[in-house]
Amino acid sequence: MADRLKGKVAVITGAASGIGAETARLFASEGANVVIADMQAEKGQAVAKELGDQGVFCQVDVRIEEDIASMIDLAMTKWGRVDILYNNAGFGGALGPIETTTMEDYDLTFDVLVKSVFLGIKHVTPIMKAQNSGNIISTASVAGLMNGVSPHLYGVCKAAVIKLTETVSLELGEHNIRVNAICPGLVATPLTVGKLNATDEDVENLRKSAGGNQPLGRAGVPDDIAQAALFLASEASSYITGHALVVDGGIRSGPTWSQWPEYMRKPLPLRLYRPEGA
Ligand code: NAD
Repeated sequence: MADRLKGKVAVITGAASGIGAETARLFASEGANVVIADMQAEKGQAVAKELGDQGVFCQVDVRIEEDIASMIDLAMTKWGRVDILYNNAGFGGALGPIETTTMEDYDLTFDVLVKSVFLGIKHVTPIMKAQNSGNIISTASVAGLMNGVSPHLYGVCKAAVIKLTETVSLELGEHNIRVNAICPGLVATPLTVGKLNATDEDVENLRKSAGGNQPLGRAGVPDDIAQAALFLASEASSYITGHALVVDGGIRSGPTWSQWPEYMRKPLPLRLYRPEGA
């Protein structure tokens, strides 16, 4: 299949790298025109170039309302509509113990991870309402659903993205606008390497070394998430809204079998535990 998004216009933030870049490629291969929005100009332009006439780069800082407005404007000027907004830009946020987190880092984390999603939804909503159709997707994280897998504020922000997805889906449903989130587990990208300028080799080394924690035995790759975004963006999911789709190799369910205590994995005849005579 290569026409699941034929004639659609998509705006994707964080599309210069990792999950966003792969989603831009997949959406274009399915027939969409794509605005590649990111703060990294060189990488973003390279992704847009790969897409030819179907891609255009827009330099944005997703924390800034005017930038979000002009990103949506660009899609309207160039292609006259916005069918899909994918709020995906992000970073790891403030690290370390709670008592050393500065207010500056707190604000930066919330602005990049939550305010950006709010602004994207705010600015695309009038257009989608006028179209009486639209599809909003945001990248949350399993860290918004479980604890101990990310820094404090990252998990809090991703939980907020899930909540915003749910509440806004209630408001926009009657305008035929679906609103969903994706909760990735560990995906090998520059973000998880911990460096915006991580090389392909850094990312590949992480992918190879991080397999053991996932029940499915491998780390995620950007295409795993892009395929979920395609599902949510396409007609295949036409009755799904207000949903947080977990795509994590099983990690949300708990530790992989080989990490369970040995006494739980060893087969023992149950009769040893039966009361006398049972
Ligand atoms: P990535 O670093 O490869 O891509 C993130 C992109 O966001 C980069 O291109 C970066 O330039 C852009 N960006 C960051 N801050 C921005 C800003 N202020 N304005 C504009 N652009 C900005 O990382 P990724 O793993 O592809 O991350 C994509 C999304 O997936 C993020 O929201 C992240 O939190 C989420 N996520 C990632 C993982 C994972 O394991 N990689 C897991 C769960 C959720």
